[in-house]
Amino acid sequence: MKSKLRILVTGAGGFIGHHLVNRLKAEGHWVRGADLKHPEYQSSAADEFELLDLRTLENCLLSTRGGIDQVYNLAADMGGIGFITANHAAPARNNILINAQMLEASRVQNVCRFLFSSSACVYAQSKQTDTDVKPLKESDAFPADPEPGYGWEKLYAEQLCLYYRQDYQFETRIVRFHNVYGPLGTYDGGREKAPAAVCRKVALAPDGGIVDIWGDGRRTRSFMYVDDCVEGLMRLMASECREPLNLGTDRLISVDGLVDLVCSIAGKELTKHHDPNKPQGVRGRNSDNGLLRKTLGWEPSISLERGLGITYAWIAQELGQPRMKMRMSSELAATG
Ligand code: NAD
Repeated sequence: MKSKLRILVTGAGGFIGHHLVNRLKAEGHWVRGADLKHPEYQSSAADEFELLDLRTLENCLLSTRGGIDQVYNLAADMGGIGFITANHAAPARNNILINAQMLEASRVQNVCRFLFSSSACVYAQSKQTDTDVKPLKESDAFPADPEPGYGWEKLYAEQLCLYYRQDYQFETRIVRFHNVYGPLGTYDGGREKAPAAVCRKVALAPDGGIVDIWGDGRRTRSFMYVDDCVEGLMRLMASECREPLNLGTDRLISVDGLVDLVCSIAGKELTKHHDPNKPQGVRGRNSDNGLLRKTLGWEPSISLERGLGITYAWIAQELGQPRMKMRMSSELAATG
C-alpha cells in the first residue's frame, strides 16, 4: 500500500472525525472531510471539506469520487444517553441510510478499505445488568439484544459490512467504540455525553455548591481519550482484522467516581444531587480488550486523570470559567 493515501473522513465536522482529520494530515495524507456541518470549535485541517447530506447515494458517490483509498465512515445521527433513549426512529433511519449508501458508493468507486464506526451499544442488554459487569467480548453482541434504535442500527450496519466482504470481497473494518471523550466535543445542547456533561456541570458550579447527576450515580462505564481512539482507528484500518473489534479502555468507573475525579481536577467540593428519573442506560458496561491486544498488539493507555484534565480545562475555558486550581495543574503534569 502507498505510504501517502487519499482518505475520506465522513462526520469530519464532528468530534472524533475532526481529531482524526488532524492526525491524518499530520501523517502527511491527503484528506477530504464530509459532513452536514463544519467543525464547531476549530476549522478543519482537511484538504477539501464538503457539506453533504450522506443519506443519499448521489452525495455518497460525490464524497468518494476521485480515487479515494480509504474511507473512515464516522458520520452518524447520535448523542449521549438522553438523546438515544428519547429518539429511536430518526437516528435509526438516518444512520441506516448513511451506512448503506456509503458502503455501496465506496464499493462502486473502488475504495480499497472502508471502516465503519460501531458502538458498544450493540452489546446484549441482558449482559449489562450489574454495576460490577463482566467485560464484554466481541461475541457478547449475540444473541442480539442491543440498545433500542441506535444499537440495533449499528448491529445491522456491522452485518452489512460483513455481507459486503463475503459477497463482493470488499475490505471492511468494524470498530466498536466504548465512550470516547476529549476536547473539541459537544458539551451542551442535549447531545453531549457523560464526561463532557459532568465537566460542564462541575465547571459551572460554585465551589461548595451542588452538582445534578442523572440516575443513582452507581452505573459504571469505561472511558477512552480521543487521542487513543484515533490511534486505534488508524491501527485497525491498517490491520487485517475484518471482524468487529472493541476499542476502549477496560478501567471501570461509576458515574459518582467520574464526578469525584472531575471535582478533584477542578479543585472543587460539590454535593451530588441524584435524579433517578433521568435516563441512565444499562447498569454496567466494560470493554474486554483481549482481542484488541491480540489483533493490534496495542491498547489505549492515556489515563482518565490525564484525559479528563485536558478535557475539563478546555470546557471550563469555553464556558469562561477558571480552568482549575493550581494544586491540580501540577498534579496533572505529574501524571504525564
Ligand atoms: P459527532 O456527533 O460529534 O459526529 C458525527 C457527525 O456526523 C456530526 O458532525 C454530524 O453532523 C454528522 N452527520 C450526521 N448526519 C449526517 C448526514 N446525514 N450526512 C453527513 N454527516 C452527518 O459524533 P462522534 O462522537 O464524533 O462519533 C463518531 C462516530 O463514532 C459515530 O458513528 C458514532 O455513532 C460513533 N460512536 C461514538 C462514540 C463516542 O463515545 N463518541 C461511541 C460509540 C460510537
